[in-house]
Amino acid sequence: MTHPIYLDHHSTTPVDPRVLDAMLPFLREHFGNASNRSHAFGRTAAAAVEEARERVAQAIGARYSEIVFTAGATESNALAIKGSALRQPGAHLVSTAIEHRAVLDACRRLEADGWSLSVVPVDRFGRVDPEDVRRALRPDTLLVSVMAANNEIGTLQPIAAIGAIVRAAGALFHVDATQALGRVPIDVEAASIDLLSLSAHKFYGPKGVGALYVRRRPRKVEPLPLFEGGGQENGLRPGTLNVPGIVGMGVACELAVRTMDEEVPRLRGLRDRLFDALERGLDGLALNGHPQERLAGNLNVGIDGVEADALLLGLSEIAVSAGAACSTGSAKPSHVLEAIGAAGGPVRAALRFGIGRFNTADEIDRAARLVVERVQSLRQSR
Ligand code: PMP
Repeated sequence: MTHPIYLDHHSTTPVDPRVLDAMLPFLREHFGNASNRSHAFGRTAAAAVEEARERVAQAIGARYSEIVFTAGATESNALAIKGSALRQPGAHLVSTAIEHRAVLDACRRLEADGWSLSVVPVDRFGRVDPEDVRRALRPDTLLVSVMAANNEIGTLQPIAAIGAIVRAAGALFHVDATQALGRVPIDVEAASIDLLSLSAHKFYGPKGVGALYVRRRPRKVEPLPLFEGGGQENGLRPGTLNVPGIVGMGVACELAVRTMDEEVPRLRGLRDRLFDALERGLDGLALNGHPQERLAGNLNVGIDGVEADALLLGLSEIAVSAGAACSTGSAKPSHVLEAIGAAGGPVRAALRFGIGRFNTADEIDRAARLVVERVQSLRQSR
């Protein structure tokens, strides 16, 4: 059996062979514990972690002492939001209607536990109006959390404009940049960001490793750790470091930023090619998300007259998602599509294509053909 065509890069990405090559020595001979510097094994591991920390910092315009390694963006988001909130019980938090569950549900849990929460709406393209953020701010607002790029519809947010407003109000600004690294430039200084979440497997690194940027200057941001242990990562994220994963994340970060200028136009070209082919073959299509301010590799389309489950069932030769694949096994309509008024009902499927580094034009053409054929045959049988 040949592999299906992989078009689900918002869900996860394959490990780049260059990343894997960098990781393997740290699974084989350099297996030391990075916290144990009393012998060469530990020191080699520690040096590799510090090099990776520098690479991650450089990718986002930060200093290396501001990077805390975690197990991924879910944990980074929790550390940023809950860790900050714990410093100020009962304070006010602001987020948006289209955040990933890892952010929205963390905020809602805090709300249930005595904090207050304002959820800013988005327009029909999934964009947050910075003025809505300004209106939501209160004297007791502790933190504002807005994602850089949406994992379903690919919409990019005006992060720098929002950051300036949040900074002027004296609140903390957290950005979930999980889908953004290597796809749009990220600069924590230019966008007034205090906390920023990353996950390596979204940019051709390994799963189970991520990072949280935590500003140290001029304002020292100090979330509380979510658990106790051996004091690693300045006590913010204790536990033996995932050295091979961290090394892989460092290399993946560097590659992502270095190749961005070439990769983004290429992905945009493939994305437009896919949408054009679908539009030529089918009527009743609607683009979900912003027509321009979107991730280059993202295409989210509503397709009239077909059910999502039936459509996916017949598309086993391509790997795509209906709505979001990030909340497993959920039959509920996507909160993101609901927020932009595009949930559509049972006979309107939404397909999310995520085009990535190793996709070819030939794969895009084949995928488009398969989708057109499948939709036509489902529509005929209705
Ligand atoms: N935030 C966003 C925007 C995401 O897309 C994801 C992954 N789907 C996460 C957070 C969570 O990342 P992880 O599963 O790696 O913890």
